[in-house]
Amino acid sequence: MTGPVDLSRATFLRGAAKVGQLLPDVGVEVAFAGRSNAGKSSAINALTASKALARISKTPGRTREINFFRVDELARRRLVDLPGYGYAKVPRSVKQHWVSLVEGYFAGRRSLHGVVVIMDVRRPFTELDLQMLGWCARAQLAVHVLLTKADKLSRGRAAQVLDSERRRAARESWNLTLQLFSATRGLGLDEARRQIGHWLLSD
Ligand code: GDP
Repeated sequence: MTGPVDLSRATFLRGAAKVGQLLPDVGVEVAFAGRSNAGKSSAINALTASKALARISKTPGRTREINFFRVDELARRRLVDLPGYGYAKVPRSVKQHWVSLVEGYFAGRRSLHGVVVIMDVRRPFTELDLQMLGWCARAQLAVHVLLTKADKLSRGRAAQVLDSERRRAARESWNLTLQLFSATRGLGLDEARRQIGHWLLSD
């Protein structure tokens, strides 16, 4: 088992390139967001104990889609891979498309119970991450932040970053939880799966 809900059962359902292609808003969803290259696909693969699940979201044409994975047979519980943000050189029209797709998804999405935001532990809370958190706050969504690639720092340094970012979050009244994570080392898997399982079962 990969936590209270068996995430290893996740399979790809469908990608949505526009709001009209989103799955019906029933059941329970947990979404994953993050800057491109932050380590979102690796985190999804580690959490679902899958070598290739999120690679589907990385195939050409799908990187700018919202990709849905079902966790249970009836697809009542789903993981949702949001397109990565922060590509350096994309045209304005592509950025606008991203914004309208993700805003359209967040708008009144009743099945969305929580958002996992993936950030590189060495560069957490960039301006675009804060924008994403702002959207989550406006939509009154619970947020859990994975500070990933923690293996790139010494254990002591990673703990320091976690502590100082937690204090900053409290100071700024950001309503979120934070943890260290590493897809390559399997660090923080239980904690993350517990949070995701908790959301997926909260209906
Ligand atoms: P995405 O664009 O956010 O989906 O990022 P990817 O999952 O594709 O990861 C981007 C790069 O970071 C790849 O080269 C990964 O191998 C690397 N990476 C992802 N997670 C980790 C991690 O936990 N530790 C280390 N050291 N590298 C990672």
